[in-house]
Amino acid sequence: MLLDTFGRQAVDLRVSLTDRCNLRCTYCMPEQGLQWLAKPDLLTDEEIVRLVTLAVRDLGVREVRFTGGEPLLRPGLVGIVAACAELAPRPELSLTTNGIGLARTATALKAAGLDRVNVSLDTLDTETFHTLSRRHRHQDVLDGLAAAEAAGLTPVKVNSVLMRDVNDHEAADLLAWCLERGYELRFIEQMPLDAQHGWDRSKMVTAEEILERLHARFRLTPEPSAARGAAPAERWLVDGGPASVGVIASVTRPFCRACDRTRLTADGQVRNCLFATGETDLRAALRSGAGDAELAELWRTAMWGKKAGAGIDNPEFLQPDRPMSAIGG
Ligand code: SAM
Ligand code: SF4
Repeated sequence: MLLDTFGRQAVDLRVSLTDRCNLRCTYCMPEQGLQWLAKPDLLTDEEIVRLVTLAVRDLGVREVRFTGGEPLLRPGLVGIVAACAELAPRPELSLTTNGIGLARTATALKAAGLDRVNVSLDTLDTETFHTLSRRHRHQDVLDGLAAAEAAGLTPVKVNSVLMRDVNDHEAADLLAWCLERGYELRFIEQMPLDAQHGWDRSKMVTAEEILERLHARFRLTPEPSAARGAAPAERWLVDGGPASVGVIASVTRPFCRACDRTRLTADGQVRNCLFATGETDLRAALRSGAGDAELAELWRTAMWGKKAGAGIDNPEFLQPDRPMSAIGG
């Protein structure tokens, strides 16, 4: 098992399949100049499947989420999903994506064994989408969402980051739009993980503000069964339920005490936290011929050293060197 000194067990593995992306969301990447990982440094599809197999079979991982960068840009994605779906015990398999290209691949992904998707959508307005992502791909995202629902990758979840004076006025509109379509919406507080280090705590739209904006149009009550557990989102029933909305308040109400995650970057580094400043190199070990027992021991040791919390709100907080797009969000 992947335990740490605070008694937490990591059962949820986030695998980044690439650091590249076809959008340039302002809270994530600069317009240009970001250095990509070199191809030979990326784990191959076989190496990824080997490490996921180890995590599921020997280390107690029960859920695997593929992310990036943009995971749909990975040519071998469907094959990786199919191989992971054959593992015993069968892990839950999900994907976090910007939705571009999902219209083409949703059916194949479902057939390969993918269970669910989270699609990132920050705005309902085409121009605002361009302002936020620096690309004209809004319709592709909307098409991707519809295709995910049609393919049965449900419940379809939508992730939204609100930026002050850009899309923060859309909180209630986004919720109404998702409710109409049966999508589960979760707002994520903006975190200091952008490549250009432009995050400013004083400008961040807080969970409290998001809830205020939602309260103006909807009646929100804390979800009764929502013993929050390891789930990062605090959830509220909307107008009595059954539909709900989530807020992931990583900055103002961190959930580190219940964190059950472990992360593998596209170049084969284990990270015990999104905000970890150190990594453990499984790729080097794997390529120098390490056996499963040795790799498992490295992974266990990496997790054992996990800190109590990310402490984003602490004055001594240091942003990790790698941006979110290279860690896997
Ligand atoms: N490209 C995919 C996508 O956008 O869904 C997967 C990777 S992206 C890094 C994963 C999630 O992280 C997205 O929902 C995105 O909105 C969110 N994200 C990116 N940068 C963030 C930041 N600085 N703070 C909070 N969330 C962020
Ligand atoms: Fe790409 Fe996702 Fe980052 Fe946007 S948030 S730039 S879609 S990796």
